[in-house]
Amino acid sequence: MTDYNFKIAHLYGDLMNTYGDYGNILALRYYAKQVGVTVDVDLVSLDTDFKDNQYDFALFGGGQDYEEQIVSYDLPKKADAIKRYIENGGPFLGVCGGFQLLGHYFLLADGTRVEGIGALDHYTLNQPTSRFTGNIRIQDEVSGEIYRGFENHQGRTFLGAGERPLGKTLEGHGNNGEDGGEGLVYKNVYGTYFHGPIFTRNGNLALKVLTIILNRKYPTVDWQAKLASVPAESF
Ligand code: GLN
Repeated sequence: MTDYNFKIAHLYGDLMNTYGDYGNILALRYYAKQVGVTVDVDLVSLDTDFKDNQYDFALFGGGQDYEEQIVSYDLPKKADAIKRYIENGGPFLGVCGGFQLLGHYFLLADGTRVEGIGALDHYTLNQPTSRFTGNIRIQDEVSGEIYRGFENHQGRTFLGAGERPLGKTLEGHGNNGEDGGEGLVYKNVYGTYFHGPIFTRNGNLALKVLTIILNRKYPTVDWQAKLASVPAESF
């Protein structure tokens, strides 16, 4: 029995879970358990409200163009709550399609425009005949940390006001193959094209986000010190 617990919303987890993005949740649970914290997960999908004040972390994973389009029809119902959650500093991970849909819009491979929720200021153009596929390695320019993963996307994302890339691309294509950036950081929102999933392959990032989650929920506990003894794995 533990006194500490936090709650995760898995947004559209039944539709948006490319390459096992759910593994990001398993990684958080794995590290949380080592400091005596349990984790509950709700699937928040089509026709379910996102009750932003009930969650301590949200995962919005990747999907193919087809699923992304279905999700885009439902998203306006959740848009206000997601924006409020983000602006209040809610920890959030958007992967690939989920990352794209947080922005203004993205283009399907055939050029059809699909609306995002505009919670963040990026937008995503298309590549009609090719994709960015392969191993990717980036460096966080603030902390110097290296993150490794696998990218597979046709979308080319361009960041906007207030967003900085998660890292500088050392190997692979990143957001758009042009500006050398990969992913995004805005407040406590992380966006990325990494599958792998990013938290299982990069325990350093998982532990960083877990520290943010726990500091927000239990501010009187020194989570930094507790988590310092937990080894960062790369599975
Ligand atoms: N449909 C998007 C693209 O190809 C997202 C793909 C994904 O989530 N893996 O750009």
